[in-house]
This record gives sequence, structure tokens and C-alpha cells, in this order.
Amino acid sequence: MHDKTLAELTRSLEAGEFSSRELTQHLLGRIDRLDGELNSFITVTYDQALAAADAADAARAAGKAGALTGLPLALKDIFCTRDVKTTAGSKMLDNFIAPYDATVVEKLAIAGTVSLGKTNMDEFAMGSSNENSHYGPVKNPWDLTAVPGGSSGGSAAAVAAGLVPAAIGTDTGGSIRQPAAFCGITGLKPTYGRVSRYGMIAYASSLDQAGPMARSAEDCALLLNAMAGHDLRDSTCVQRGVPDYTEELGTALSGLKIGLPREYFGDGLGPQVEAAVREAIKVFESLGASVREVSLPHTHYAIPAYYVIAPAEASSNLSRFDGVRFGHRCDNPIDLIDLYKRSRAEGFGDEVKRRILIGTHTLSEGFFDAYYKKAQQVRRLIRQDFLDAFEEVDVLMGPASPTPAFDLGANKDPVSMYLQDIYTIAINLAGIPGMSVPAGFVGQRPVGLQILGSHFTEARLLNVAHQFQQATDWHRQRPAFAEENA
Ligand code: GLN
Repeated sequence: MHDKTLAELTRSLEAGEFSSRELTQHLLGRIDRLDGELNSFITVTYDQALAAADAADAARAAGKAGALTGLPLALKDIFCTRDVKTTAGSKMLDNFIAPYDATVVEKLAIAGTVSLGKTNMDEFAMGSSNENSHYGPVKNPWDLTAVPGGSSGGSAAAVAAGLVPAAIGTDTGGSIRQPAAFCGITGLKPTYGRVSRYGMIAYASSLDQAGPMARSAEDCALLLNAMAGHDLRDSTCVQRGVPDYTEELGTALSGLKIGLPREYFGDGLGPQVEAAVREAIKVFESLGASVREVSLPHTHYAIPAYYVIAPAEASSNLSRFDGVRFGHRCDNPIDLIDLYKRSRAEGFGDEVKRRILIGTHTLSEGFFDAYYKKAQQVRRLIRQDFLDAFEEVDVLMGPASPTPAFDLGANKDPVSMYLQDIYTIAINLAGIPGMSVPAGFVGQRPVGLQILGSHFTEARLLNVAHQFQQATDWHRQRPAFAEENA
């Protein structure tokens, strides 16, 4: 049961091979047995899950089942869930029970999914390894000495380990695609504005976007169908029809024009990662696609621009955690200033503090023009690079990350951690959609192929990934950890 895709599980549920309750119980049992070692969940919602599974089984019995009815999933702990602890991986919110559901949570519940709980993550989604969580690091099921990637590391590890068939993540600068790559699963960051951010704890509001993480592109399409759409409660969520993302799956790739950004194959790219990505591209050629080199000339500026813009927005968003309205409050403050200072000093971890300091500095008078405004201008150039490239080609392909999953503790220096995001960050600055798809291994550790498209071309990206998955079986590989502990 635990290594099937969502589409396969639906067929089993339809055929009556097992019920949603049985499936849910099986996976909750696996979480109990295996997650002590992995640490992919912060909260497991046993009772709610079984109640949702029973409701789904009743809906199916009444002939009212949809494409996702009764399918278990997990939610990154950045989505507010009513009556369930929502921590964003921070001590600051260790006592926070959200009073409402995020739009994405609500939509997935309406679609009949069964949430098993909330997954571990880097604190406030700041990180690339899941080592910044107040709840401890997550381990990579492919190799327990490696990180799962971040910030949606818990979501990625839980899917890879067969604890849940799919999970929801968020991606501000790579946090869906990079952990998907490191854990050998399929992840999609939609176009900015495609999915509502309402109820998703804000990190950098102009970059944050929620998306699906699953075992196949087809499953990502099924989930995006339920997640996407306009929301009056998020003014950046676009008013634009939601296609059926499964409809284009099956379109042949003959004539597809693939661009390989020169800047994504240069210095710093691990040779074995490059070899796996180039092999994957040959598969597309055999499916009838043509390949040419393109250039994204401002790629080099993406990390510096992002690490000005994202901390600036974070410093503003995180000002709400002041010990007064909600979240951690220090003991016995002597006055209001002491309350603010100590609550924040105690509640936030080092990386979050570092970003608040950077952001406050770059937004301050005298520095704003030199840093923040300049970074926004650079952002525009980066976006233009992509628009120009998509005049020539349909999709871009390259690695999701310069290396496979690195060892726990290997990137202690924050700048070396920031440099991990070289191939993912520009995509958020441009607002375009991107996926990571399993495309091989370096030793035991998976490699992700990144596929990028212009704004609102998720249907095409999903089909491109799906065609690759029809021709390869990288996405069907499972870590020994999941099998030995079946
Ligand atoms: N690693 C990047 C950061 O730390 C991206 C994180 C994310 O996408 N949430 O900001």
C-alpha cells in the first residue's frame, strides 16, 4: 500500500482492495515505527485522520467519491490548520493552535483527502537542509547521514520513506524542488499567484508559493487541480480559470523545444549530477524533442538579489511575532520593550535572527536605495532573461541542485548554504513555474532534473514530466529504508 501513487491508490480504493481507513491505519502505523528515526513529522493527527478516512469511505459508498477522496497526505507545518498546532518549525509558534484553515488546507479537505499531520521544516521556511528546525533535523531516507533538503524537508522525506503518498510544501527559493530532488520524488512550484497564500505563514510574500510533492507528475497534477484557483482572501492570487491539469498528460513531445541554460551547466555543477541530467535530456530527444543551448545572462545575480529581497520581506512579516498577540512570550517581562526583546530573542533561532538583521538593515534609511531597490531592479532583469528564453524554447531544463543531498552538518557556513540555491532561486524571482523530477543517482543519493516553463504553463510542465516518467523508472525507485521496514 505504501509505495503506490495517488492514482494507483484511487484504483485500489475503487476496486475495494482496501478502504481509506485501512490505508490510513497502515500509514499511521508506519509513521509510528519509522518516524522516530526520520523526524519528518512535527505533529501526527491520528484522530482527525481516521475521522476523515471514515468520512471518505462513506462518501465513496454513497457514490460521491472524487479523484482525491480518501487519499492520505501530509501538510508542511507552515499551513494553518484549525485546532491543530501550526509551528512553522519555530519555537516562537510551539504553542500556536491556528483558529482557521489555510485555503489550500480547506480545498484539499473539500476534495476528500485525509491529512495525517504536519511535516517538519526549516524555521519559517528559511533553509536548504531542514537543519534549521526547532524540532531537530530530518534525515534523508535514502541515506540517513544526508539531509533531505529544505525547507520542505519533512514533506519530501515522508513521501520518499513511504509514510504518506503525497505532501504539500512551499517554495520561496527552491523549497519544494530541492528537497524533492534530494529525496527522489516529484515536486512542483506553481506560477506565483496560481495557488492562494491565505493561511500560509508568510516568509517572503512576493516569492512564497505552495505546491504538491508526490511520487509522480500525474499525482502532482491531481493535487494541483484541487489546490489552484482564485481566492478573495489573497489579493495576489490570480483570477484565471483552472484547467484540468491531467488533461494534457498523454500529449506527445514531438516538436517540443527544450533550452539548456548555459549558466546552469557551468562551474560548481557536480560532474555526476551533470551526467545524470544530460542522460535525462537524451530521453527527451528520443521522445522527439529538440534541444538547444540558451542563455540566462543575469543568473549570477540571482542569489545576491534574493538574499536582499527575501530577508527584507521576512523582517517585515516576522515583526508580528512580538510576544503580545500570539506565539512565545518570555516570563516576567519588566516592561514592554523587555517583553518584545526577550520574546523574540528566545523564540527565534539563529538563521531567522540573521535574516531579520539583514532585512532590517537593507530596508533602513540610507541603505534602501543601495540594496533593496537595486535588488528589485535586478529581479526585473532576471525575469526578462526567462521571458526572452521562452521566446525561443518551450521549456528549460537543468539540474535542480548542484550536488545530490549533502551530509548532515556539512554546510555550517550560512553563505555556503545560500549557494546551494543557485539553480532554484531565480525561478521565484521571475514568478514562473518549475518542477523537479527524479533522474538518477549519485551513489545512493537521488538527482533531480529541473523543468521550467513560462507563467501559467503548469499543464505543459506536468505533461513533459509525465512523458519522462512513462519512459523511465527513476520515480519508481524506493529507498531500502522504506522497504526493509515494510
Ligand atoms: N533556501 C532558500 C532560503 O533559505 C529557499 C527557502 C524556501 O524556498 N523557502 O531562503
